[in-house]
Amino acid sequence: MNIYADNAATTRMSRAAIDAMLPLMEETFGNPSSLYTIGQRAKTALEDARERVAACIGAQPWEILFTSGGSEADNQAIRSAAALGKKAGKCHIISDPIEHHAVLHTLQALEKEGFEITFLPVSPAGLVDPAALEAAIRPDTCLVTVMYANNEIGTIEPIRALGEICRAHGVLFHTDAVQAVGHLPIDVGTLPIDLLSASAHKFHGPKGVGFLYAKKGVRLTNLIEGGAQERGKRAGTENVPGIAGMAAALEEAVAGMPAHAAKLTALRDRLIRGLQAIPHAALNGDPTQRLPGNVNFCFEGIEGESLLLLLDDRGISASSGSACTSGALDPSHVLLAIGRPHDVAHGSLRLTLGENATEEEVDFIIQSVAEVVTYLRGFSPVWRDLCAGKTPFLL
Ligand SMILES: *Cc1c(COP(=O)(O)O)cnc(C)c1O
Repeated sequence: MNIYADNAATTRMSRAAIDAMLPLMEETFGNPSSLYTIGQRAKTALEDARERVAACIGAQPWEILFTSGGSEADNQAIRSAAALGKKAGKCHIISDPIEHHAVLHTLQALEKEGFEITFLPVSPAGLVDPAALEAAIRPDTCLVTVMYANNEIGTIEPIRALGEICRAHGVLFHTDAVQAVGHLPIDVGTLPIDLLSASAHKFHGPKGVGFLYAKKGVRLTNLIEGGAQERGKRAGTENVPGIAGMAAALEEAVAGMPAHAAKLTALRDRLIRGLQAIPHAALNGDPTQRLPGNVNFCFEGIEGESLLLLLDDRGISASSGSACTSGALDPSHVLLAIGRPHDVAHGSLRLTLGENATEEEVDFIIQSVAEVVTYLRGFSPVWRDLCAGKTPFLL
């Protein structure tokens, strides 16, 4: 069997996305800034894609800025709000410790530039508490940035409640919605969101393209200087095929969302039930406030990396929370922030199902994980000590 269960890392491009891109590479390849026909046709395709992307999230076309992906959108959103804040003498930003590195590292850079950052603690399920946000807002707070849904543990944050608090205090609210767009219903017309980031390759579009929603009136700072593309806020010849592919993928994702969400939620819960039968295993993230396809577990007494490699041998592509930074395996900052001890966080596994997953595949994953965990524990010194009572079980 070949099972791709790492859809939070990236997704396969949809046929609709590829079909939308090919004519813009082979025929209508003109530069949208050129005045002759083939350029103007590309320009039409670009603006058509902008209208369609905007409609998918309840925005106006002029509120959509195309970027090279989620990371760039996060950087630009945060840098823009910080620049506006600085001008007004407000240099305090509020976020949380389970954000994506595109957000965390941008905040770290701003800290070096003199901004003060408050990281709100998250609950063991990974939830940000709106009351804690309200208590943390100060007269000099210029931005709150909290992700829509977490890419590792799948927890969906209380975005409406958080945004309403920001509105009430006149503070800009950004959300990294890269895992949510195309997977959860989002209407910025009714949600109190000022800035929102998205990435095409997380919803079956191409890699290297995304968008930033900036509510009318929120002035953006450009990260890339050059030509006047994207109303002067993002220089560089537009990735027209990629943008058109993103629009097609997003429309398809939004149209299929109710059916996909129902199917994926059922498969997700089947997978969670199956893995919960493994001894000394625990689900990470909220059991219900959770992305439809996301399953994340910690297994005591094993290394996530070994688990991944043995699952790969069985044809299963999955992910572990550990990130290889400078040659060393660091446990996931998200798992540590929700209170998992260092050792336990090392034994994590993330499985993110795609819309085409089946019950048979889920059952094969459950059986494979159970076998591989038992096998790895068989020669794990950590497991031996746990079983001998030398160290206490943590899960
Ligand atoms: C994937 C991801 C990003 C980065 O998006 P890219 O398009 O790969 O730059 C940012 N935030 C979250 C939550 C993600 O899952």
